[in-house]
Amino acid sequence: MATGSAGRAAPGPSGGPAAVAAAVAAAGPLVPARGVGAEQALSELSTLLAAGSVDPAEPGCAAHLHCPPLAVSVAADVAASALNPSMDSWDQAPVASELESAFCAAIARLCYPAAAAPDVVVTTGGTESNLLGLLLAREKEPAVRPVCGRNAHHSVSRAAWLLGVPAPLVVDCEGERMRPDALDGVLRGLDGPAIVVATAGTTNTGEIDPLRQLARVCRAHGARFHVDAAYGGLALCSPALRPLLDGLEEADSVALDMHKFGWQPISAGLFAAREAADLRALSVSAEYLNADDDTEAGLPDLLGRSIRTSRRPDAFRMAVTLRALGTEGLGELIERCCHTAQEVASAIERHPSLELWGRPTLSTVLFRPRSGDVARVRRVLLESGAAIIGRATMPPGEIWLKLTLLHPHATAADYLGLLDETVTAARADLTEGAVAS
Ligand SMILES: *Cc1c(COP(=O)(O)O)cnc(C)c1O
Repeated sequence: MATGSAGRAAPGPSGGPAAVAAAVAAAGPLVPARGVGAEQALSELSTLLAAGSVDPAEPGCAAHLHCPPLAVSVAADVAASALNPSMDSWDQAPVASELESAFCAAIARLCYPAAAAPDVVVTTGGTESNLLGLLLAREKEPAVRPVCGRNAHHSVSRAAWLLGVPAPLVVDCEGERMRPDALDGVLRGLDGPAIVVATAGTTNTGEIDPLRQLARVCRAHGARFHVDAAYGGLALCSPALRPLLDGLEEADSVALDMHKFGWQPISAGLFAAREAADLRALSVSAEYLNADDDTEAGLPDLLGRSIRTSRRPDAFRMAVTLRALGTEGLGELIERCCHTAQEVASAIERHPSLELWGRPTLSTVLFRPRSGDVARVRRVLLESGAAIIGRATMPPGEIWLKLTLLHPHATAADYLGLLDETVTAARADLTEGAVAS
């Protein structure tokens, strides 16, 4: 892997999709009739993987909520993979299931400090957690109508599509935050039951909906309330940032991702329910996994803790990580990223050739060169491997560059070069445009 990484520019491969495809084709058949042996296969393909990857451990890899995993979690993942417990029945995962249950109880307490009986289940991420949020609502009220902000993640409408419920009604935002008065208006216009999905840490800007006010509106209308806190939820670990999530404990359910602020290898999703009883909707019997007589004899019934069957022990590495760092340690890492985002935003404000969209809430910074084609600048940097930057289209339909800072050990200084590179790329783009025309 070191050889492979050394063979490319940081943070990503150069040459774009064609160059990467050519490197893979040159490696030879991936499914040969006669194998090359473990050592050669591992060595060749790991080198290829490292050479052609974008590396989130490089500060210049900052497009998405794509974190550099902590070494402790990667090591825990190896241990778990070697023993390969499967979380769908106790006889495949005796201690792993008990560890998962204790870990989930602790996270449930973090989300719901005052609830009588909260619970958490492990998911593959925000997409599955949002699906569960809508699924539990539909199991309570078959005619439920999803409602979400204009700022909601695409997985919310996809969940509605999968579940066969109507597409979400979309509530207007102020900036990128759902407006409580607009939600009130939408709920007033509905006859039937509703599930409202708010966002704590939007994908475009990292902003957090006014959760307490939205919860109040939901309660007034008897609507269920789910918070997609896939990005921002773990800020609960930081006393300084926790006030941003004020009202989260009012939600009936919450989506949290530890493969973002949590620094786990993918996947590491969590779904919290304020009332454990709501999760009974997931119960299912399969004689070979949870026969009634086994359950009556005291074997824990695990099958109803997921919509999956075979399931990786992802809670193991999450538990190892949180035991290693404590919530305080994890909270500090999150604070560092948010602090760096503030400093990078200030550097952009001072930069004569760059424009800042607005001050960051979490660790997302939107900016753009004052001139040049923003979308093309992003692609030029990606193709050269010099910087991996995201994009966001913001009202009134303008494209911005997005830095999603998830590197807890990078400082603002690590991003200054990248800012200059966007300016250089924008200038080159303008010059080329002038030559072409
Ligand atoms: C990341 C994210 C999702 C999707 O989660 P996955 O873990 O990619 O499935 C949904 N909503 C928000 C707000 C997110 O940040």
